[in-house]
Amino acid sequence: MSYISVFGIFVADISFVGKRIPTVGESMIGSKYNISPGGKGCNQATAIAKLGGKVSFISKIGKDTYGDMAIKILSENKIEISAVDIDPKSQTGVAGIMLDETTGKNAINVIVGAPATLTIKDLEKYFNIIDKSEIFLTQLETPVDVTLECLKKAKENNVLTILNPAPAAKIDNQFFKYVDYFTPNETEAEFYTDIKILNIEDAKKAAKSLIQKGLKKIIITLGEKGLFYTDGKEEIFIEATKVKAIDTIGAGDAFNGGFAYALLQKKPIKDALIFANKVAGLSTTKQGAGNAMPSLEEVNKLTN
Ligand code: ADP
Repeated sequence: MSYISVFGIFVADISFVGKRIPTVGESMIGSKYNISPGGKGCNQATAIAKLGGKVSFISKIGKDTYGDMAIKILSENKIEISAVDIDPKSQTGVAGIMLDETTGKNAINVIVGAPATLTIKDLEKYFNIIDKSEIFLTQLETPVDVTLECLKKAKENNVLTILNPAPAAKIDNQFFKYVDYFTPNETEAEFYTDIKILNIEDAKKAAKSLIQKGLKKIIITLGEKGLFYTDGKEEIFIEATKVKAIDTIGAGDAFNGGFAYALLQKKPIKDALIFANKVAGLSTTKQGAGNAMPSLEEVNKLTN
């Protein structure tokens, strides 16, 4: 059965919820805390698995409490974990999230932990998992040189590649030829183009500039405005799903996972974008990142 390979990180999202985000030097009493799965790679793999897609996760965790949590959650979601290295000498990643319950604003400190130590050599034993997959999906939370080498290997084996350039980091333009779909959000698109994106016209300009740099197909996600796609000829704008958003953390991950899943189903580009836009919209209606990914049934029920 054809599957998607996802290279990225798992972190335990530890959120502290309170009336506001404490300021420097302040100690305050909050209202509740949550520990839930996060990390862009894990979230995107979870989005695919929740939709019913076959997915293999390539990553590294430590041998500790949060590492056990990762294995439990990945397994529960039927995500293939034979390429998840467990290293007793490293810590599993965590993210400390301060969440303001009144405004929904947050401040996040991510400790990548184990996957920060990954080298190209460590990944070599997993290249066959990438080579045999239909689609390779990755982000930039893992060491950039390793990520770019995986994209190169994938493309050399005719695997369709999606790079979600988050968080934005400098990439040598020579690697752009290994990327089929480049999926920045507004701030990431600005990082790569120096074009501030406030509306669709700005998104069009930024996408054009990315294509001039050697990228092939661009999807700029525009938060509550939706998304813009172009391959340099065709242009598609999709408005965001009309939902009551309560937590947008992980919306981009839901989009990328949903989009990869739709391409695995061989949906034409416009249908794939519409589908992924629904997956992302639905993910904002639930608290959390990995835990907020919708099922295929929920997506199919959505009419707008
Ligand atoms: P990121 O989470 O990476 O910052 P965006 O904020 O651009 O990414 O969101 C990704 C996608 O999630 C959007 O293109 C859209 O499909 C969906 N989305 C985000 N915010 C909302 C919202 N408030 N209502 C509906 N859909 C949303």
